[in-house]
Amino acid sequence: MNDKCQQPLLPIRIGQGIDAHPFVPGRPLVLGGVRIEHDQGLAAHSDGDVVIHALCDALLGAAALGDIGNWFPDHEDQYAGIDSRILLRRVMGTLGERGLVVGNADLTIVAQRPKLAPYRAAMTEVLAADLRCPMEQVNVKATTTERMGFAGRGEGIVAFAVVILTGS
Ligand code: MG
Repeated sequence: MNDKCQQPLLPIRIGQGIDAHPFVPGRPLVLGGVRIEHDQGLAAHSDGDVVIHALCDALLGAAALGDIGNWFPDHEDQYAGIDSRILLRRVMGTLGERGLVVGNADLTIVAQRPKLAPYRAAMTEVLAADLRCPMEQVNVKATTTERMGFAGRGEGIVAFAVVILTGS
């Protein structure tokens, strides 16, 4: 029971996350924890993995625990260039302490280029491992915006995540 409004908590919790970063030359491109062959990477304080950042925000949102910015501030040196999988595993550790597990996660990456279909299986495997769930509970999709907007002009990448958590 919620101690304020006397309504029973649902046995599932839903969360969404969105992140976007601009392309810059001279950086590796990492999406969903997988190194992607491309001539540019994403500008960021961390490794710029927009997919994992959106996923972390969805997880934190579902747990009502704020957002990635307040857990891992982008002005702190300890997070400079950090592998975003480390952040994801820390978020999952926090959820685990609260008895929460992933029901499923659905991710959408919006990028005009590069083509991401060849990397989907690898991203799914990496994310399922960090989410501590079977690959069947994780879906990674990629789409374009038919050359419209910043993603369509190839200026950056945006990622969307929706997750269901189950547990207490
Ligand atoms: Mg980010």
